Amino acid sequence: MKKKTGLIAALIAVAVFAFVSVDALQGRETQKTFFAMDTVVTVTVNASKPDGIADAIEEEINSLETDLISRHLQSSELSRINGKGGKLSNELAEMLSTLMQVSEKSGGAFDFVLGAVSDLWNFGTEPSVPDAEILADVLAHSGYRKIALNGNLLEFKDSDAVIDLGASGKGAALDVAKTVLEAEKAKRAVVSVGGSILLYGGGDFTVGIRNPEGNAGEFIATLKTKECCVSTSGNYERYFEENGVKYHHIINPETGYPVENGLVSVTVISESGILSDALSTACFVLGVEKGMDLALEFGCEAVFVTADKQIYATDTARAMLEINDKSYTEAAHQ
Ligand code: AMP
Ligand code: MG
Repeated sequence: MKKKTGLIAALIAVAVFAFVSVDALQGRETQKTFFAMDTVVTVTVNASKPDGIADAIEEEINSLETDLISRHLQSSELSRINGKGGKLSNELAEMLSTLMQVSEKSGGAFDFVLGAVSDLWNFGTEPSVPDAEILADVLAHSGYRKIALNGNLLEFKDSDAVIDLGASGKGAALDVAKTVLEAEKAKRAVVSVGGSILLYGGGDFTVGIRNPEGNAGEFIATLKTKECCVSTSGNYERYFEENGVKYHHIINPETGYPVENGLVSVTVISESGILSDALSTACFVLGVEKGMDLALEFGCEAVFVTADKQIYATDTARAMLEINDKSYTEAAHQ
């Protein structure tokens, strides 16, 4: 019990990666914080009856996790079909189809069938560097090419392959929240699920890009946006040190080891929560040049922060970006 409280406190620190300022709200506002999807969720809603909407969002996000996409809870559809396949619900089939597209278009840099590899690294509980031979063997049985999705029918060509929605589930939670907000005719809302944030309603929003070297509340830049989803993948989110080497949780699917390409974070802006989340991970793996092309191919915008304090952004994102920490410079397009 004590351990869990500590974990929640730590996750609050990790999760509040961005601040969001919401201008001149009218109507009533409520804020609700709860724990779901392995992170802290904060819902701020402005509406005539905001409390019921915040409760409904909590219910829907919990149900997304427990009934559909958790791979650790036996109650979920994903747990039932993982490693086995079968006929999927429309909701899960649609999500997996989107992720298959990101996997294919990223040339495999994004790969939602790396669950067995992530388990070896064990970032969730007690991480350690896996044995190289075991890692190579598990990697050989992993990857999106080990499954086939035809409409609602999912087939596993290798029963050791494991689907993992860790890179996209928080974004999917934003889509679920947006559906509730639309149905309930909320005026404005901000829903933050770990590193993914939904900015909902009219007017402007300001989102901070976290200082990778600082605490969760410190920002190096801001983005001024309209309604959208914003997701950040950073190598500072989950990592550990062994023999003086830092290992973080975003895996290069070619090697099975953490990506080392000089990036510290990628932020993706999209209308779709699941796309913003999946693409932030994909762009992190691909690096600046290929990552930018991929984001644009999906009609999204992206901001890349490098370890040597350069910030690269797609044209539209550049227009939204203001750098506050002057030790960072906006790099010219490549
Ligand atoms: P995110 O914080 O959204 O970038 O997601 C990171 C999580 O996605 C990790 O903790 C893993 O569960 C999973 N993951 C790691 N590497 C990859 C990858 N190359 N493609 C897809 N998912 C990944
Ligand atoms: Mg992601």
